Amino acid sequence: MEKVKAAPAVSPPQAAPSGLARPERRDEDERDLSLRPQRLNEFIGQRVLKENLSVFITAARERKESLDHLFLTGPPGLGKTTLAQVVARELGVDFKVTSAPALDKPKDLAGILTTVTEKTVFFIDEIHRLRPAIEEMLYIAMEDYELDWIIGQGPSARTIRIPIQPFTLVGATTKAGNVSSPLVSRFGISCRFAFYDETDMEAIVRRSAGILKTSLTGDAAALLAASARGTPRVANRLLRRMRDFAQILGSGVVSREVVAEGLKRLEIDSLGLERHDREILRIIIERYNGGPVGAETLAISVGEAVDTLEDYYEPYLIQAGLLQRTPRGRMTTPLACRHLGVDERRGRGPGEQTLF
Ligand code: ADP
Repeated sequence: MEKVKAAPAVSPPQAAPSGLARPERRDEDERDLSLRPQRLNEFIGQRVLKENLSVFITAARERKESLDHLFLTGPPGLGKTTLAQVVARELGVDFKVTSAPALDKPKDLAGILTTVTEKTVFFIDEIHRLRPAIEEMLYIAMEDYELDWIIGQGPSARTIRIPIQPFTLVGATTKAGNVSSPLVSRFGISCRFAFYDETDMEAIVRRSAGILKTSLTGDAAALLAASARGTPRVANRLLRRMRDFAQILGSGVVSREVVAEGLKRLEIDSLGLERHDREILRIIIERYNGGPVGAETLAISVGEAVDTLEDYYEPYLIQAGLLQRTPRGRMTTPLACRHLGVDERRGRGPGEQTLF
């Protein structure tokens, strides 16, 4: 069937959004491949999310349908990509992966969607960075499993509809608030990732040590788990470093002493903060009197892109109770002052400010 209609106005190309400088992410992903859980029962933590997904996956399989589109949100390194792969494996279907910045022109998306096999899980990372023309194309693809394709140019241009295989879109983002509501409303399932608690982090560290064939004592696992900012990617990275320290400085066993020494050398403190985290807090306290300070100003002060500050550093500082996001800007909490050992009066909380 060919439906002919007026060509939709194609939005002008946008300037590429400022890049999220996270080389650490991709490096880790490359090296972490063997550590990625393959099945849902290997995926540690996020219990409620996992239980619900398990029901939806089983139901879709029984009906022999593609799983409804899935929206994954949460800070980096918590397992969004991993879960998307697990879902594909549990469904027994193909997995395709891309990221929004890689989809430059509608033909990039069409090239993928016209070649996917039935029920494929198609993962788009950083979905908040989709260009408008691609997002519009995706709406129809998600809803009707068809693509609008424009043939010709100018007044003689017309649109044809190309059928595609039913598929499951998994859209992941660290910035749920930046995804347009028409797109969000087209996802049937929405999962929000939370930071992992220490019990789950410990289980992740132990599992990874087993896969890496690294001997790790119980108390070392607990210390590592407590120092990894509730983030599996960080836990795996730290474990590899501790393995290095154990190999070069010790007997090869990752003991509590090795971890304590290793964390000290990496300048990671008892809350899992790195030097740069502490610098961010210190700058707010000392230069901005505890805040509020706007994200842009703060990003310039600490020499980071706003995206990196918001996506990578702030979520954990907020979760740890050290930082607050208020309508007027970022503020440190009294806990941050105590943790850094600086004068609490320089980092007053909201409502505690005085004229003197
Ligand atoms: P995201 O896509 O959210 O940035 P990833 O899916 O790339 O995060 O996860 C980062 C790494 O953390 C993975 O390589 C994997 O080894 C590990 N990981 C993530 N979630 C889990 C989990 N629930 N259990 C065990 N390991 C995990």
